[in-house]
Amino acid sequence: MQRTLTIIKPDGVKKNIIGEVISRFERNGLRIAALKKIKLSKDGAKGFYIVHKERPFYESLTDFMSEGPIVVMVIEGENAIYRVREIMGATNPADAQIGTIRKDFADDIERNIVHGSDKPESAAFEIPYFFSQIEIL
Ligand code: ATP
Ligand code: MG
Repeated sequence: MQRTLTIIKPDGVKKNIIGEVISRFERNGLRIAALKKIKLSKDGAKGFYIVHKERPFYESLTDFMSEGPIVVMVIEGENAIYRVREIMGATNPADAQIGTIRKDFADDIERNIVHGSDKPESAAFEIPYFFSQIEIL
């Protein structure tokens, strides 16, 4: 059993597809172990995406991630990190496979609807960034 941190980004919340996104994970047999709607500050977004601090898109990405509410979730299941990223699709929706969340809903490489931890070490940083142990069930 593995846990991963997933976010419905501000564009996904604005498009009113919170339920649609969550359903896709649930239909694939994954479980929602924790869930909340919050709004990141600019500094909160910078801290979350600190791994990208040297990238040219860091400023723009953290502006985007702090522009409106997001939904943060811990998703649980066998091989959850890989499976969530499969359901999300490629970072750039133009490259994403048909039937993935990003192909179906994302506008561009930045405004791409969802985030999912990319490896166990990332999940170990990202889950406690938003949730305490007693909130994960
Ligand atoms: P995420 O970490 O959000 O799950 P990812 O692992 O598919 O996405 P990363 O390379 O980690 O992609 O990039 C983090 C986020 O930064 C992307 O999801 C996207 O919102 C944004 N991003 C990535 N590459 C670019 C780019 N070239 N231009 C603008 N924004 C980008
Ligand atoms: Mg990533």
